[in-house]
Amino acid sequence: MSEKLAILGGEKSVLLKPEDLFTWPIITPEDEAATLEVLRRGAMSDTDVTQAFEKEFAEWQGTTYALGYCNGTASILGALFGCGIGQGDEVLCISVVYWAAVLPVRTLGATPVFVEIDPQTLCMDPTDIEHRITKRTKALIVVHNYAHHADLDPILDVARKHGLKLIEDVSHAQGGMYKGRKLGTFGDVAAMSLMAGKSLAIGEGGMLVTNNTEIYERAIAYGHYERFTSANITSPDLQCYVGLPLGGVKHRMHQLSSAVGRVQLRAYDERCVEIRQAMNHFWDKLEGVPGIRAHRVDEAATGSTMAGWYGAHGLYCPEELGGLSITRFAEAVRAEGASCQPGANLPLHQHRLLGPQPPLPISDGIGKRTFFIPWFKKYQPQKIEEYARAYRKAAKGAEKLIAEDPGDPATLGNFSSRLGRRT
Ligand SMILES: *Cc1c(COP(=O)(O)O)cnc(C)c1O
Repeated sequence: MSEKLAILGGEKSVLLKPEDLFTWPIITPEDEAATLEVLRRGAMSDTDVTQAFEKEFAEWQGTTYALGYCNGTASILGALFGCGIGQGDEVLCISVVYWAAVLPVRTLGATPVFVEIDPQTLCMDPTDIEHRITKRTKALIVVHNYAHHADLDPILDVARKHGLKLIEDVSHAQGGMYKGRKLGTFGDVAAMSLMAGKSLAIGEGGMLVTNNTEIYERAIAYGHYERFTSANITSPDLQCYVGLPLGGVKHRMHQLSSAVGRVQLRAYDERCVEIRQAMNHFWDKLEGVPGIRAHRVDEAATGSTMAGWYGAHGLYCPEELGGLSITRFAEAVRAEGASCQPGANLPLHQHRLLGPQPPLPISDGIGKRTFFIPWFKKYQPQKIEEYARAYRKAAKGAEKLIAEDPGDPATLGNFSSRLGRRT
C-alpha cells in the first residue's frame, strides 16, 4: 500500500467498514425487556427498580451504600452537600474537565479553586495542591480524567494531612482500578455520571457511592425527599428535618434508567475487558511513532486499569514533528478515514462565569498537546490496525504536512466533553 498521505491525494488508510466497532451502549433484548416491564407496570417514577440497582451497584463497587440520581451532575452536588460543603468554603478542582465536576461547588455557595493538571495523566497534579490550601479549604474533587486514574496516593496524603474531604468523580472510569483497588473507593465519597455517552451507559442517570453513613444520609436529605423519612435516617441532626428535601431539588433516578442499568452492569466488566484489549492494541501498534504518545497506564506493571477508556485521548508532542500543529496533524488523520479531534475540555478557569482567574500554564496549553482518538468497543485487530496506520502515516508524513500548516486556533477543545463521543 502506498504511503502517500490521503490529504495529499494518496489512498486512505481506513478501508474496512466499522460495523459494530464503535456501537455503544450495546443493547440486547434483555435491556428491552427490562424497560418494557417498567413501562407496562406504570412504574417509571417508583423507586423499587432503582433500589434493586443500588444494591447491586454497591455490591459491584464494594461500598456500603449506593444512591441513584437523575444525572451525574446531581450526584456531584449531593456528594458535596454530603461532605458538608456550604457558603464560604473552598473546594480544590481541576480546570481541564467537564463543567459538572466544578460548577456544583458554586450551587452550594462555595468557591472552586483551580489546581494544575499533570500533562501525562491529565488529572490533578499532586504537587500543585498544597500551596492553594487556605483556612476555608474543605474538600478536593478528583476526576479520573479520560479514564486515567488520578495520582491517588500523594493526593490522599495531602487530603489527610490537611483534614480535607476527598470526592472522586468516576464519570470517566467506572470499574477502573488503581493499584488493584476499584476507583470510587478511595475518597470519602464518589459520584459519577451514567449518562448514555459514558462507558457505563444507562441513559440519564448518576450514582453516589460511599461507606460513610453521615454522607449518605445527608445526600438523601438533600434531594431524595421520598426517602428522607425517620425510618431511613439515623442522624439526630437530620431527623428534625425529615419530609422536605434540604436542597429544594429532586434527585430521583428515572426507572427506565435503573432498569437498563441493572442489565448493563451485569455485562459491563466483560465488555470493558474487550475495550481495553482493543484500545491497547491500537496503542501497541503505535509504539515508538514520533510525535504521539498513549494516554494510558501499564496494566500489568501497576495493577491499575483504564476502565472503559471513556473520552480516550492521545498526547501530542509537536516538537518531535518539526513543530507541526495538532490542527494540521488531526486533519491529515481524518483524511485517512480515522477520527482525530484536537484538544481536550476547554479550561474552565478561562470562562467569564468563573471571573478573572490566575493563569494555569499547563492547563492553558494542553489543547495543543492532546487529541481524542477513536473509542473502539470491539477487539477487531484488522480494523483497529487500519486506524493505527492512519495515525502512523500522519506522523511519518509530518514534513510534507508542514508546508500547508495553518497553525492552531486560539482555543482548541470544547466546554462539552461530548466531542469525541461517537468514535
Ligand atoms: C458527564 C460528566 C459529569 C456529569 O454527568 P451528567 O450525567 O452529564 O450530569 C460529571 N463529571 C464528569 C467528569 C463528566 O464527564
